[in-house]
Amino acid sequence: MENTDFNLISELISQPLRILITSHSNPDGDAIGSSLALASYLKKKNHDVQVMIPDPYPDFLAWMKGHDEILVFSTDKSACVKAIDRAELIIASDYNNLGRLNDAAPLVRQSRAIKVLIDHHLNPSDEFTYQISISKISSTSEIIYNFIEKMGDLPLLDKNIAECIYAGIITDTGSLSYACNYVKTYLIMAELFRLGIDGEHLHRLIYDTYSESRLRLLGYSISDQLVVLPEFHTAYITLSKEALERFDHQIGDTEGVVNYALSIKDINLAALFMERDGIVKVSFRSKGSFAVNTLASEYFNGGGHRNAAGANCTTTLAETIMKFKQLLPKYQPMLKSVY
Ligand code: 5GP
Ligand code: MN
Repeated sequence: MENTDFNLISELISQPLRILITSHSNPDGDAIGSSLALASYLKKKNHDVQVMIPDPYPDFLAWMKGHDEILVFSTDKSACVKAIDRAELIIASDYNNLGRLNDAAPLVRQSRAIKVLIDHHLNPSDEFTYQISISKISSTSEIIYNFIEKMGDLPLLDKNIAECIYAGIITDTGSLSYACNYVKTYLIMAELFRLGIDGEHLHRLIYDTYSESRLRLLGYSISDQLVVLPEFHTAYITLSKEALERFDHQIGDTEGVVNYALSIKDINLAALFMERDGIVKVSFRSKGSFAVNTLASEYFNGGGHRNAAGANCTTTLAETIMKFKQLLPKYQPMLKSVY
């Protein structure tokens, strides 16, 4: 944990505090995994801990210990306001600026609590008192493991915490297929198994949970909605509001859809454009050296990682796709070779 405020944070949590752990909107396995792992650990250190997210998490994560105690701002605003009010320390886990808390952001910004960032996205904002921001680590869940290790608290790890960390690492690395060319990730994985997790079972809980309509939505996305632009090594999928309604879209149903576009040989950039109430949610994925976080932040007011980024646009579906297509000639040379 070089170049981080580890020592200051370690001292800060040496006495019991009222801690609120927060994570980003549209929470994924790492958002929930890292937050719940950290919550369980800090509870063992005698802190009073609450986890809060801006909007609901997908069902396929509803097995981690503590998931049923998470406060959701969009569905239980009054409890969240109270939790923000009473917090002495607010931790931002797996996101790099408070704006990603959506409607909860202004309240957290106004809070006088000390704010600590624990995250692996590039370019953290300056809204935090202390930070542990390490962008080369696969997932925030892995950073949480390293944090507990550095605290000298590995004996406090248990199977429940290990399961949360496993979920975060597996979902942020596409089941150990990207962003994980590091020995340490695998050493940690081995330790999680030593703590008794059943990796095969957990993998099934996360990935083999499709409803029939979700699988049909995936089929429709690929057979009807996939556009391939070989000259730009790019492929994209569009899902209109009507299509999502037709397939009874639930939170998390489009998770992973964009990866199918990227799985085509010689396709180095993939995008998914999804029409939601009043906004267009965009997911970008890339292979190798092509950085989608730069594309997302420079042109779509979004962000993320080099190979996985996203944005929420206020333009229409057609306008957003048009903008994307107009950018491709500029990136054509970089899209040709990405190794
Ligand atoms: P996904 O496409 O799975 O929603 O998101 C991929 C990555 O991009 C995630 O790491 C997420 O944190 C980031 N991301 C997604 N949407 C946004 C956004 O609207 N703003 C920013 N800054 N990052 C985003
Ligand atoms: Mn993450």
